[in-house]
Amino acid sequence: MTNHTPILTSLKSKLPNVGTTIFTVMSKLATETGAINLSQGFPGFDCSPELVSLVEQYLRKGFNQYAPMTGVPALREAIAQKTADQYGVNYDPETEITITSGATEAIFAAVTAVVRPGDEVLVFEPAYDSYVPAIDLNGGIPVYVTLTPPDYGIDWQVVREKITDKTRLIMVNTPHNPTGHVWTTDDLTQLATLVRDRDIWIVSDEVYEHILFDRSAGPGHVHHSLMTHPELRERTFIIGSFGKTFHITGWKIGYCLAPKELSVEFRKIHQYLTFSTVTPIQYALADYLKEPDNYRQLSAFYQRKRDLFLAGLQGSRFTWKPAEGSFFQTVSYDAITDEPDYDLAIRLTKEIGVASIPVSVFYHQKNDYKILRFCFAKDDAVLEEAAQRLRKL
Ligand code: PMP
Ligand code: GLN
Repeated sequence: MTNHTPILTSLKSKLPNVGTTIFTVMSKLATETGAINLSQGFPGFDCSPELVSLVEQYLRKGFNQYAPMTGVPALREAIAQKTADQYGVNYDPETEITITSGATEAIFAAVTAVVRPGDEVLVFEPAYDSYVPAIDLNGGIPVYVTLTPPDYGIDWQVVREKITDKTRLIMVNTPHNPTGHVWTTDDLTQLATLVRDRDIWIVSDEVYEHILFDRSAGPGHVHHSLMTHPELRERTFIIGSFGKTFHITGWKIGYCLAPKELSVEFRKIHQYLTFSTVTPIQYALADYLKEPDNYRQLSAFYQRKRDLFLAGLQGSRFTWKPAEGSFFQTVSYDAITDEPDYDLAIRLTKEIGVASIPVSVFYHQKNDYKILRFCFAKDDAVLEEAAQRLRKL
């Protein structure tokens, strides 16, 4: 044996501040303790049997080799059609639509396509956990705009003050995870005004585009995709995911809509991250997307669940503003205890058997506003039982 310095001692993490995600931590604890898991966001029920049959059909027909790098043409065309029908905006399936292995891949590829070392990237926080690591790995500098409960609205004067000559990208997420906040047309106008005549790109994470509430009682909340503003369309990567829309989070399939020039750069990254995305599922989704009812009912479906969960919390000391969209509800426990939200989330999992996500984890300085996030994409009986347990606090 020669004398040498063990190589592993010199390994320097590129993401020193990153540990295991809170979603993994809480789901694991829920499993270990047998708690009801309202933490990690995934549906507690299955997808449509029709969709499963379609995948099976394509598997058996032998659609089992690499898909084209940009995605199966039939799926890109189906997305173009759906987007045109829903938002009145056209994307060319050949040059402007790319299928990815989930929204997570698309977010990483979009950030990587435009962020260079030293570039500043505006991040509204609380922020979904994959944004900042993608910025960090590209040498970007996250610049935070902090949103606070109960409204989580954006103060555009603050945004204006944070934009500098180094700002290269703005991360948008509407409907928002974890708060359920939804952008208005005024937000789109404000953003367009701020970025006009500047070299600033936008990543708009719209994975909850089909989950919006309170429309039966009036205009309610509408999804204003950034693509609907022509000036924003030309500088934005729109990110979508089928995981949320069709109850298939485990299939990891998403997409990116972006102008041709942006898509060219996006595809260069996608090409070497994954090359292409699972083939039979793409064919199945292309067929399944042709029936708009397969996604149009989603808002009503989830609104019932949100309302059921909140009705169950009536009479408790939790307070809340009903989520405007997404399948998450945040609640304040300010009137119950002053424990840190992380500690409370752990304690509630162990003691009353309900797992949630402490919202402080989505802030870079772990701001603790005494808020927990609950995922209500679960069977009614599960939501009722969870609410009953929470009412006891
Ligand atoms: N963005 C947001 C806001 C999400 O909530 C999620 C997943 N829950 C993703 C992106 C990732 O989506 P996917 O599973 O398609 O990678
Ligand atoms: N997006 C899901 C959530 O917010 C979790 C996804 C994940 O586990 N990475 O709960």
